[in-house]
Amino acid sequence: MALTTPAAHIDISDALSALQPLERDEYVVAFGPGDRQFCGTPYGYSASHLPASVITDIMGGEVKRIVWASFGSDGNSFFFAYEAKRGGYAYRVGTSIAYEIFEMVHDNSSSLIRVQLGNDGAYIIWFGRFWISKRLPAALLRHLVQISQTSVASRTMGRSYGMMSEGLANVTWHADDSYYVKHCTHAWNFESEIMLESWKKLWQIEEQAGPSAHDLADLAYVSIDTHSTRAETFVFIKKQPEDKEADFITHFPHEDVVSRLTHLKASTDTEPEQASKEGTGQHLQTTQNEPNVPHTYRWARSKNKGRPHPGETRELSMKKGEMVKVIQEPGNNWYIVENKRGEKGWAHAIWLDLDSKVYADPRAAYARFVEEMDQLLKPGRLRSFPDLGQYMDACTETLCQEIKQNGIGICSHDLAKLLGGSGRYSREFLRDERNKWHPDKFARFCHTDFREYLKKDAEAMFVLHGVLIDILENAPQ
Ligand SMILES: [Zn+2]
Repeated sequence: MALTTPAAHIDISDALSALQPLERDEYVVAFGPGDRQFCGTPYGYSASHLPASVITDIMGGEVKRIVWASFGSDGNSFFFAYEAKRGGYAYRVGTSIAYEIFEMVHDNSSSLIRVQLGNDGAYIIWFGRFWISKRLPAALLRHLVQISQTSVASRTMGRSYGMMSEGLANVTWHADDSYYVKHCTHAWNFESEIMLESWKKLWQIEEQAGPSAHDLADLAYVSIDTHSTRAETFVFIKKQPEDKEADFITHFPHEDVVSRLTHLKASTDTEPEQASKEGTGQHLQTTQNEPNVPHTYRWARSKNKGRPHPGETRELSMKKGEMVKVIQEPGNNWYIVENKRGEKGWAHAIWLDLDSKVYADPRAAYARFVEEMDQLLKPGRLRSFPDLGQYMDACTETLCQEIKQNGIGICSHDLAKLLGGSGRYSREFLRDERNKWHPDKFARFCHTDFREYLKKDAEAMFVLHGVLIDILENAPQ
């Protein structure tokens, strides 16, 4: 009688060690129900209770690396992405996985698709600049919608779709509203005491402050166990410094918190809070006489927390490091400022780091934009793409800062504001504006030596207009 060896009893460590490890600073840690687990690291792989079909794949010799894994709440709900030896990607999904995931990965081997599974059929699929999700916890979904250029929720299907300026790199969560998202930058919300404490310890920070953007550049990977009863099983891993091992803090089920922290860096950073969390519970007052829309304004950063006179509710209470817009300068070192939520109040010079740069009102900015583009865009002349950030650089979203630095200098919010200065903002107007940036039409303005390169920037501008049109078309009536 032939015995089928149960998957759990096959020792696949030899087969796992024959795979190529992940690249430096790449990790995949997937927690499953029970003790099911998979870890991929630059030093190799380890796993317990792997699905039988995955073991067969690994033993089959076609897999080069395992680049993604996640487990849903039942034994047949799992997703594995392999880099294949013959090139491209291959996937193994469990039989009880949502049909749309199966459909998505079926026959797709050219681009990497990643799926994070949660409990009760929750999932997010992402590939390229797109994501599709179902049953994600509210706080996480809200964040994803916020960082997407455009997103749509389909009530009939119970799914949400989004498109971003740049693809997602990681999404992990727990039903208690803890989450971590890596996109252009890192965003998180941790609810459990043990995660919050470990996070602070990882960065050597106290209370609300930081980690700074500088600190976060050192973060390699985060994973949260979605299946544990409480969000207390997690992995935080920093990037590996030259000639040293990477710092980390992890907490696995039935184990103590384990860490290796070298803390070579002094903790004197005063950078503002990044990826600001929701629900800061601040109560902000509005001034009695609302100032009119300013013609110019400038930015200021709050040096302190709260307000100079705690009982004086006309003063705007701010977070340390918070950016506010200075909309009036009545004198005597007092300013009227507005925060991102549109709440206005007084602030004193001692509380503010004032930016010397003065920004124009969108009408003036748009007029200058039109005039200068007319001058600049002459056939065959253009050698560098116009600095669009000089016309509108009002958006202070952390994520957009990176988009602006690495892209064409303007994000969708700033472009919307700039074009809004025309007073004719509509679908038709946007379509006309978009045409000017069509790469094939734009090519005629470009000097032949720079044409291909400049066409890419024009295309980015073309796409950005498309995003704004999408938003108008999908806006609730
Ligand atoms: Zn923006």
